Order: sequence, then C-alpha cells, then structure tokens
Amino acid sequence: MPLLLLHICCGPCATSTVDHWRREGWDLEGFFFNPNVHPYLEFGRRLQGAEALAAAEAFRLREDLSYDPAAWFQAVGVKGEGRCACCIACRLEMTAQVAAEVGCDAFSTSLAISPYQDHQAIAREGAAAGDRHGIRFLYHDLRPLFRDSRRRARELGLYRQQYCGCILSEWERYRDA
Ligand code: SF4
Ligand code: SF4
Repeated sequence: MPLLLLHICCGPCATSTVDHWRREGWDLEGFFFNPNVHPYLEFGRRLQGAEALAAAEAFRLREDLSYDPAAWFQAVGVKGEGRCACCIACRLEMTAQVAAEVGCDAFSTSLAISPYQDHQAIAREGAAAGDRHGIRFLYHDLRPLFRDSRRRARELGLYRQQYCGCILSEWERYRDA
C-alpha cells in the first residue's frame, strides 16, 4: 500500500482527513510541524490533540518539536495578505522534505478540510514544495467533510482550538469580542 505523510496541525481537522485518505487506499503517517502556533502552551495543547488522535486511529505520528517562533516570524513576517500563504508554504516545505527523506510516496495536509484556510495557497504551495523535493503533493478539497470532522473531534474528546495559530490570528479572533 502506498504511504502518505499527512501534515497535521492539531486533532480536529485530521479526523475525517485520515478517514478520507485511507478510503482512497493510502497507508499514512502523520507529521506535526507547526511553529506558527503561539504561544508555546497552546502549541503543546495542539500537539497533545494530534497525539490523542494518532493513538485513537492507530497511525504513527512523526513530530518536529524544534519549536522556534522567532524563525517562523523571520520567515513569514507580519505582512498582511501574504502572511498565511507564506505560513502554509513554510509548513508544507518541511513536510515535503521529511516525506522525501523517509521514503513516502506522497504528502498532504489536514489544512485542506478547513473552510478557514486559503485553499489556493495550499494547492499551489504544496505542489511547489513537492516539485522541489521530488515528491507528489495530494490536494483534495475536503471542506464538505468539515462538519463531520467537528463531530468526530467532539466524540473523541479532542482539544479544539479557538484561533488559527499565530498570535496575530489570536488577536483577530478576539479583538471584537
Ligand atoms: S486548520 Fe486549524 S483546526 Fe484544523 S487542524 Fe489546523 S489548527 Fe487545527
Ligand atoms: S492565521 Fe494561521 S495560516 Fe495565517 S499566518 Fe497565522 S497561523 Fe499561519
């Protein structure tokens, strides 16, 4: 069975994403690499959510815990419109690199189930990272499965975060509350 490396940012989106790719005939491993998640304690909560899902769904979760928000800010900056595309590119670049190194057949991301993410950037940056590392990027618009993923997350008792990840997204989430 071909092996997929699935980038995972936390538990909820990965639930139905894992189901989807398994239905498509892929064996998979997860990969947690998210230096965009601030602050550090929130990073830990999302990591625990991803680990809980991996245990419940019986897949291996690879973890890059070299958490360095300073490097993330240097790579992504605080620019307005380009910020999310750059952040997505940064995470998919690392996923492509690891997927190629460990001998996977393809890579993808749980971001593709979220209606709050930039899907053009996911498809474009994933394909570009795949080209650079000689590995196929699988993009499928999984947004129709988003509600199902929230239901699964509740059933499994997974941690559900309230903002995308970076400190700017936390501010955007709560500034008008
Ligand atoms: S897109 Fe958001 S909710 Fe979905 S896995 Fe990533 S951090 Fe979690
Ligand atoms: S809002 Fe989310 S995708 Fe955009 S830069 Fe922040 S963490 Fe990354």
